[in-house]
Amino acid sequence: MSEDHHSIVRRQAAPASVSTPVVTPIWPSVVYQSTDADALDAQYLGETQGYTYAREGHPNAAVLAAKIDALEGARGGVVTGSGMAAVAAVFQAVLRAGDHVVAGSQLYGKSLKLLKDELPRMGVEVTLCDPTDGGAVAAALRPETKLVLVEVVSNPTLRVADMAGIFAATAGHPAMVAVDNTFTTPALYRPLAAGADLVIHSVTKMLAGHSDVTLGYAAAKDPGVAARLTEVSVAWGLTASPFDCWLAERGMHSFELRFARAQETAAALAHHLSGKPGVEAVIYPARPDHPDHNRAQGLLCGQGGAMVSFRLAGGREAANAFLRAARHIPFAPTLGDVATMFSHPAVSSHRALTTEAREALGITEGFIRCSVGIEAPDLLMRELDQALAASLVANA
Ligand code: PLP
Repeated sequence: MSEDHHSIVRRQAAPASVSTPVVTPIWPSVVYQSTDADALDAQYLGETQGYTYAREGHPNAAVLAAKIDALEGARGGVVTGSGMAAVAAVFQAVLRAGDHVVAGSQLYGKSLKLLKDELPRMGVEVTLCDPTDGGAVAAALRPETKLVLVEVVSNPTLRVADMAGIFAATAGHPAMVAVDNTFTTPALYRPLAAGADLVIHSVTKMLAGHSDVTLGYAAAKDPGVAARLTEVSVAWGLTASPFDCWLAERGMHSFELRFARAQETAAALAHHLSGKPGVEAVIYPARPDHPDHNRAQGLLCGQGGAMVSFRLAGGREAANAFLRAARHIPFAPTLGDVATMFSHPAVSSHRALTTEAREALGITEGFIRCSVGIEAPDLLMRELDQALAASLVANA
């Protein structure tokens, strides 16, 4: 075996350069080498700062977490392999058998699944209640309640939680309030500044913004709880890969611009759709006809977000015709992408509910949720008008 062969197998140091890269490098290394046992010991003792093993931390996760920390006014947040991993990390960090959780009845479907099926299996009881009513949250609290979990704007009906009522209900109670801020994003609402103890994100959505990465984030105000979040994420293997973190960090550079543009277009689309033949209702928190309009004005500082929902007349037939005719708007069950996308909650996020339960929420077969992207608004309006015309024909 030649010397050359050995040098190919051995890793080489990066070529020397007096200049440095402008873009964050990707550090894919699973493992980090130390000079000797004393040096590694010092790292583990916290006397020096250094990475050891990627599941326990790596530079790309640290760079991304610091960015989201800055947006959320948090310290020491942890990046996880998905939004659901972030929800799971919060549960693992603060709950034990015998505890009780109060949660919003309109949470993301898989969060509800964890609450309804997985936590009870581990000896944790759960009460679901209406998050738009602080009184209902107060009534659900028990002495052993450790956690209240809510989303500020519900999916897909865009109802706005009574955050002031929830904070009043939990004041003086040991339960911590966790807010899944995926829908609202820190551009609309900053849970920790408002009074929450924990904040959660599906970074997959608006923060990363390009539907090419699956990631989450969780942070806690209390340093001990924040340390637990990292500890359980490392031990349960919830942490994220360097490549994903790098992509999300790149996406986040344009987050504020993307959000502002998408929100402006969402308000324009809501206005455009309202009163059109074939549209039974438009749901957008900044509109005066929204059921939580006054609360939304205060909580979201007069803004409405980047999601618009609407109900088409004519049920499934009309919805199918609408979705097929909007050829350039993907019918795809995600949100927060640069491209506008539709979802049909009755067959996707809310399919597990009975028809009656869906209808009680106003989620008919004609209900469409629109995650608004950054395309030119007039292009979207033209496409929506074509799709509406097709739904009217189907409903004739
Ligand atoms: N929380 C909310 C509000 C969501 O909408 C989603 C996904 O749609 C999640 C959590 C889960 O995120 P992920 O798909 O990244 O696991």
